[in-house]
Amino acid sequence: MALTGIEIFKLLPKTNCKKCGFPTCLAFAMKVAQGQVQIEQCPDVSEEVKTKLKEAATPPIKGFEFGSENQRIKIGDETVLFRHEKKFYNPTVLALQISDVDENIDKKVDEVLNSQIERVEQILKIDAIFLKNESGNLEVFSRALEKIRNKASQIPLIFGISSPKIASYVLEGFKNGRPILYGATEENFSDIAEIAKRYNVPVGVIAKGVEKVFFITETLRTKGVEDLVIDTQPQTAAELLRDNTIIRRAALKGVKALGYPIITFANRDDEFYETVMASVGILKYSSIVVLSSILKWKNLILFTLRQNIYSDPQIPMQVRQDIYKVGNPDGNSPLIITTNFALTYFLVKSEIENSKVPTWLAIMDCDGLSVLTAWAAGKFSASRIAQFIKESEVEKKLNNRELIIPGYVAMLKAAIEDKLPGWKVIVGPKEASGIPTFLRNYIRSKH
Ligand code: SF4
Repeated sequence: MALTGIEIFKLLPKTNCKKCGFPTCLAFAMKVAQGQVQIEQCPDVSEEVKTKLKEAATPPIKGFEFGSENQRIKIGDETVLFRHEKKFYNPTVLALQISDVDENIDKKVDEVLNSQIERVEQILKIDAIFLKNESGNLEVFSRALEKIRNKASQIPLIFGISSPKIASYVLEGFKNGRPILYGATEENFSDIAEIAKRYNVPVGVIAKGVEKVFFITETLRTKGVEDLVIDTQPQTAAELLRDNTIIRRAALKGVKALGYPIITFANRDDEFYETVMASVGILKYSSIVVLSSILKWKNLILFTLRQNIYSDPQIPMQVRQDIYKVGNPDGNSPLIITTNFALTYFLVKSEIENSKVPTWLAIMDCDGLSVLTAWAAGKFSASRIAQFIKESEVEKKLNNRELIIPGYVAMLKAAIEDKLPGWKVIVGPKEASGIPTFLRNYIRSKH
């Protein structure tokens, strides 16, 4: 866990000699705690203290990258038990499992490539493929791998191989990036560790239960294999929740052998239960969740959950400032302005769509605050609205100079008109639900 300023201060020489450029050791310690200066700036601090501070600054869950040269994915580097304490950093990777004996490999790879959707201006998709060596045969696995790479040369890969011999052959011929080698069991982990070191790939550790995983990871750590993902093989959602919570709590308390990203196999025959397993994994600390299939409804649940869990709780969901088209607006279409709080944007946009009136929607950056909050904070003020409208040059798109503002800020009408000469400000409805009627009446009034 990161040290506080006071904890760092206690480790300093406390001579207030000013050689670090700060008037006191305490002032220096506060800056170190905030990450604004390096401890090396104090020439009198001991090597022991430097090491202690470095260790304290290292996230308790080991972070590393895997994937192809052009599609790297970072996992781990997490620092908290609860999202509201800070935030969760690296979103859960969703991977589709494909068996090397599967007859529909091409189709499944296409499904992965076509899984992409856009939500709140983020691209959400299935991120990786877990290729399982079900055949136990090198040639079969190599053919399956070739099929995947022919279709998706850059897709991040996890190899499910338990045979050290096959793993060694496969990695010897694999030259694009860093796949995860998932296959270190109680029986083979020493051999797998040697291969992982030789080819510099992360290792997936598999054992039933936290204690057995601990034993393997502790041994691998001493052998210098540090990039690990761990799988305690939970069978039910309750076991998954229990194991993942134990692992995260232990890691935060400094148990290094459990300070690794978790891989969870959610794949089940029952799609609903698979979705429950995957959801628990996303909610509670799984860095990788492996799925059996790609279904739109399942994707939607998991993508949305992941996006929300991995957003910063201190920063409201927001959309980019811009003039958006709803329908196909032209020079005679109305112009509505509101703030960039994501919920406000979606509500207003969907009600404009309901109205069937093509409209220009001006979304103004108010740090993701809703209309009244942004107004109270001085971020949705007459001068800022006027400045945005001028800088956006939206008037080039319009035959008129009319701006519709939310009913909640009707008091801004006169001030905006003052700051936007030639413009007429029209007060719209307070609630988004009033937009369809308002817009239809607005269009009618023009004819
Ligand atoms: S150089 Fe070190 S000892 Fe001197 S004031 Fe700065 S922190 Fe304190």
